[in-house]
Amino acid sequence: MLCYKLIRSNRKTIQIQILPDKTIEVRAPKNVSDKRINNFVISKEKWITAKIEEKKDIPQIPVNHFYVPGESFYFRGRQYILKSNDKSVKKSTVYLLGNNLVIQTRLKTPESFQSTFLRWQKEMAGEIFNELFEECWMHFKNYYPKYEKPVLTLIIMKSRWGSLSQRTKSKPAKMTLNTLLVCSNNNCIKQVIYHELCHLIHPNHGKEFYETFQFFVPDWEKLKNELEYLFVVKN
Ligand SMILES: [Zn+2]
Repeated sequence: MLCYKLIRSNRKTIQIQILPDKTIEVRAPKNVSDKRINNFVISKEKWITAKIEEKKDIPQIPVNHFYVPGESFYFRGRQYILKSNDKSVKKSTVYLLGNNLVIQTRLKTPESFQSTFLRWQKEMAGEIFNELFEECWMHFKNYYPKYEKPVLTLIIMKSRWGSLSQRTKSKPAKMTLNTLLVCSNNNCIKQVIYHELCHLIHPNHGKEFYETFQFFVPDWEKLKNELEYLFVVKN
């Protein structure tokens, strides 16, 4: 028997997705009966089993933390071990020292580690993403000069790495990147940026979208799979 989470929405078709933690998520239109959905899922059992098998060997790294010393954290594709600096300080800071991610706070509690870490992570992500975004944009602009530069925003998301909302009469296009991408390396982050830039030209994931994307990032598939090791716990 297959266990899955069912999400109903205003969509037109049934979609099955295997999440990085190997759970099954089914999205379906509101007016389709449970029985029909279940029959559809059962008819895809072979495909589902194969997909789960494929993901079996990908090691999983949770990006949700408990904030206890000794815990693993990822930053720019490298693993660090959380260490608390025992000196009492007024101003909380985070710094990298060898293989350690050192958090220095006045109170040595998971809550204060968390707020200090999240503030630092967001700040670092902002700097790194802006730099990579500029680099990708300059390259993209050479080939597609008529497009207007999107505005970049960062947010922690549970289920996607990036998104692009198209420009309107009064506002430029907006690219949103998942702050948690900062756990990964530059090439993986650039892959997401180029993906979203290609949506300026092709809003959907059609053949033409992939042709343009492939032109900018020939190894996008490998990089996209690499991102699967970062396991975002979903609500
Ligand atoms: Zn897309």
